[in-house]
Amino acid sequence: MVDPTTVESAVEHGEPPAEPPAGCTDPGVWQIAHELYLAHRGPSGQPCPECGEASPCAGDDLARQGLATALGEQVTMSGYWQALAGLRRRRATAAAS
Ligand SMILES: [Zn+2]
Repeated sequence: MVDPTTVESAVEHGEPPAEPPAGCTDPGVWQIAHELYLAHRGPSGQPCPECGEASPCAGDDLARQGLATALGEQVTMSGYWQALAGLRRRRATAAAS
């Protein structure tokens, strides 16, 4: 059982790849979480280029929770990420029809 307040996974401190890795259970969540991760990635010890908070910032934390969710973990913000990916999918489906 994973403690929902900590993300115990390879994405917690490493450099997540743009392409969903093996073991990814939700590529849609991975894609949007990775976009957020890139936006909030800053040199450690320096303010985030996106939001100006000290790195790692809240955006970085949220993005890592999204990446963990995409790998099938249940974390604090998993519901948010799954709902957001669902909305994106619905919009894409509506645009295609
Ligand atoms: Zn930030």
